[in-house]
Amino acid sequence: MSQQLLLTDYLAKLKCPICQGNLDLIKWNADYSAFYSASSVSNSRFNFSCSQNWRHYRLFLIHWLPEITIDYEAVILNIEDLEIVIYQYYGPDQQGINSIEIFLYPKGGKPSIYRNKERLFDFSQIDKEKIIKRIQTILTFN
Ligand SMILES: [Zn+2]
Repeated sequence: MSQQLLLTDYLAKLKCPICQGNLDLIKWNADYSAFYSASSVSNSRFNFSCSQNWRHYRLFLIHWLPEITIDYEAVILNIEDLEIVIYQYYGPDQQGINSIEIFLYPKGGKPSIYRNKERLFDFSQIDKEKIIKRIQTILTFN
């Protein structure tokens, strides 16, 4: 199978967890080395995102290898005066690195962060309501 077909196949299994929309290619030749040379993952570096709104769901997809994989994915949610940003990392070298980070930005309040070694979401199998419920559960027990 050509790489193009592999990618089409892979993308068909993904969707935006916020609006259930398709994903769009943003930048084919994203600079992967620059991505990793940054001291921390930059929010702006992604090569695919929700076709409706990149803030919904964006990801860095390693699309050039026979085994296509997600490198990281991010979701931004707004509930009333709270903005929630979720990052999940799949990088090959995750030693000592958290696999999920959830940032909470209350309007006019102090931001906080929750981290975990385990990834906690399958964004291809979830919707906005479920994400919110899940976050409430996670934060209640931590
Ligand atoms: Zn969307």
